[in-house]
Amino acid sequence: MDHDTTLLLGLDGLAVTKVVAAGDGPQEGPVVYLATADERARLCPQCGVAAVRMKEWVTTRPRDLPVAGRCCALRWRKRRWCCDQASCSRRTFTEQVPQVPARSRLTTRLRQATGAAVGDGGRTVIQSARDHGVSWPIVSAAFTEHARRVLPAQPAPVAVLGIDEIRRGRPHWVLDEGTGTWTTTVDRWHTGFVDLSGDQGLLGQVEGRTVAAVTGWLDQRDAAWRTGVAFVAIDMCSIFKSAVRAALPHVTLVVDHFHVVQLANTALTEIRRRLTVQVRGRRGRKGNREWELRNRLTRSAARMHARQLDPMVDDLQALPARLGAPILAAWNAKEDLLDLLALARTHPDRTVIAERLFRCYDRCAASGLPELERLATTVETWWPEILAFLRTGITNAGSEGTNRVIKTTARDAYGFRNPENQRLRTRCTTTRRGRGCLNPA
Ligand SMILES: [Zn+2]
Repeated sequence: MDHDTTLLLGLDGLAVTKVVAAGDGPQEGPVVYLATADERARLCPQCGVAAVRMKEWVTTRPRDLPVAGRCCALRWRKRRWCCDQASCSRRTFTEQVPQVPARSRLTTRLRQATGAAVGDGGRTVIQSARDHGVSWPIVSAAFTEHARRVLPAQPAPVAVLGIDEIRRGRPHWVLDEGTGTWTTTVDRWHTGFVDLSGDQGLLGQVEGRTVAAVTGWLDQRDAAWRTGVAFVAIDMCSIFKSAVRAALPHVTLVVDHFHVVQLANTALTEIRRRLTVQVRGRRGRKGNREWELRNRLTRSAARMHARQLDPMVDDLQALPARLGAPILAAWNAKEDLLDLLALARTHPDRTVIAERLFRCYDRCAASGLPELERLATTVETWWPEILAFLRTGITNAGSEGTNRVIKTTARDAYGFRNPENQRLRTRCTTTRRGRGCLNPA
């Protein structure tokens, strides 16, 4: 037996007896002849007693991972044994080792590598199948097994939980013949739960964007896990708010500043569009200064250079008073709100917060614009959650990033038919860093 070659091949329980050099073909690798080197290979799979009477020799040709970049053809000459135990119904069996189970045409390590390439390596199922020379269904099954092995059944404790929605596919409707009403069987909205404080990525996803869907997932966690959650970051969605209030009454809800800024910018744009139609009798176009400034208006002044900012204010003041003054007022209100949100992560004093909030409310009220009044009302409704953001600086950016990963994975795969498989893939992808798969060599 060639001990060195056996070590090099590294298939536990099998020893290399001979290696024959490759043929002339470009695809041909060396042929490796193997013999059994594990006494347990002769244990009957049914009764577990070692067999003593041999029936015949058989040769199996399991496919394996490449060795030094070349695919080797394995030839394992093994015995078929007879089980002589009277109580055992098994008459004969062939030898098997964990790396090459009986009847398997692939080694266990090849099968696992195909699944790991998808779950840890970020490859698609079809590409992993091409790379390893196996079929799509084999890789898909190997990936599912890999995912079940590496993903915990229950998430570890989480201090900051993110909840966000994502759209998936189309809704399906069915007509109830009795009542004549349509009901959804497949909801296009899915709700994701993300670990924002640790590296567990996407913890779970449920179909639907309802209170019942969110509380259903949270109720499946044990009491200790739910008690461990201190903060929940959500976007300005009252469904999530009431669901979290019901399932996790002790947590502090935090609203992401991104959505507050988005609301303020939407209000500003609505005002600009409405006034343009009122004053000019049509939509804005090239040559209308307020239309040309439409993108600059929604940028934060703190991120603009003075040579952009000062002319913008001058240009707005030069517009007709019915148009320029309200847009400028709305822009000022938006900037006041941004000033308020900029206090996050600075350990702000409550008088400073109150001062900036009052300035923003005052500006909205003084403008007399319905869009700004609505904005101020929304801020007031969500004030406890916005204040929690100012105090903690927690954002839901991790959930939004997870949504991007979900979309990227789905596009790579050319879509998923089965939401369960999609969740497994997304969970594997979002936990890759935590599992050490993205570390540099
Ligand atoms: Zn037996």
